[in-house]
Amino acid sequence: MPQYYVWTIGCQMNKAESERLASLFEQRGYQATATAEQADLIVLNGCVVRQSAENRITNKLNNLKVLKKARPGLTLAVTGCLVDSNIEQLKQDFPYVDHFFKPGDYPYWLETTEGTQALPQHPPPSFYVPIMQGCDNFCTYCIVPYRRGRERSRPLAVISDEVRELVRRGVREVTLLGQNVDSYGHDLPDKPDLADLLTELNAIDDLARLRFLTNHPKDMSTRLIETIARLDKVCEQLNLPVQSGSNDILQAMRRGYTVEHYRQLITELRSKIPGLALSTDIIVGFPSESAEQFQQTFNLLSELRFDAVHVACYSPRAETIAARELEDNVSATEKKRRLDIIEQQQESIATEINGQLLGTAVEVLVEGKNKGKWQSRTRSGKLVFFSGNSHHLGQLVNIRIEKTSPWSLQGRLETGKSN
Ligand code: SF4
Repeated sequence: MPQYYVWTIGCQMNKAESERLASLFEQRGYQATATAEQADLIVLNGCVVRQSAENRITNKLNNLKVLKKARPGLTLAVTGCLVDSNIEQLKQDFPYVDHFFKPGDYPYWLETTEGTQALPQHPPPSFYVPIMQGCDNFCTYCIVPYRRGRERSRPLAVISDEVRELVRRGVREVTLLGQNVDSYGHDLPDKPDLADLLTELNAIDDLARLRFLTNHPKDMSTRLIETIARLDKVCEQLNLPVQSGSNDILQAMRRGYTVEHYRQLITELRSKIPGLALSTDIIVGFPSESAEQFQQTFNLLSELRFDAVHVACYSPRAETIAARELEDNVSATEKKRRLDIIEQQQESIATEINGQLLGTAVEVLVEGKNKGKWQSRTRSGKLVFFSGNSHHLGQLVNIRIEKTSPWSLQGRLETGKSN
């Protein structure tokens, strides 16, 4: 039986795409292998949002050149946001690669129709479903609109059919993916929005939970917030990237909102959705970010107290407006210092927030096993580990929390409460 290997780096979007590719290979009689060396077909699904990610792909491709030379029958393919209109250039740079294809743009040997054909037969209980590709926003630091193109929403009926089929195959929780899910549907003929999509999916029997990523503060509407609050399957968890606590930096990033607008949005979300867990994204060391502007970010995070903060150092990406027009003038040492400060601050906030769960009972969805324990997640997205011999995969069970940390929780199964 021929063997395949898919190497993925990057966001959930890439991971979702790799799951679909793996399924297509298996439908064609391929079997997964643990290492590239054993494979007959290797796909690199790469990300270029950060320079470090692009460097990792280039290194991997250089290593694979040796393998390809030794085994010319090996098929080598590259996809992900590394691949766009630059395919001719990539072919010149990496002539030993057999296929380059854009995300979702399957080559002839993988041709499929849109819909359920690319779904795995045995998906995990929690599954990612892309609802749109691309982004129209052109934040000045971001390469996504150049590499993934403009926003293209998948029709609501197609997504709904796909989720129904996933549920039929055992999926209990679906996370809807898009670079900016709050603008879902504006490019479709009857202009459905994310609230319409969530309402449709919430009605699917046996689906237990719904989540979605990523939101944009300028596009999140009151209608959406009220829909989240109303629908029982939509989990109380949101990622709402603020990126900076300085209005000047937000403007230089062309984010399209102010700190005041963001603060109001958080107030509205927290008042309408009880128990909401919020996470955000921060970039430190954006061009010309002063010590005072960084302090504004620190202060905003102290004030809003997120459950999780994903922080990254600014890294200029060729083609973007910031790389072309702004000097990358905060030193690498200073960027790292700011990143460490935010991470330490968040560790202490998350310690306090998670500590409040000690002794409480939480409902979790069991996702799999990890180092001998069951790994599960609360509706608010927190990781919970517990011991148990019975088969709990895909079940909703209640766990009494006995230990907390900033990153995860541990507890014991409450008997007689599973389904
Ligand atoms: S909203 Fe901004 S940061 Fe997010 S993908 Fe679009 S351009 Fe990039």
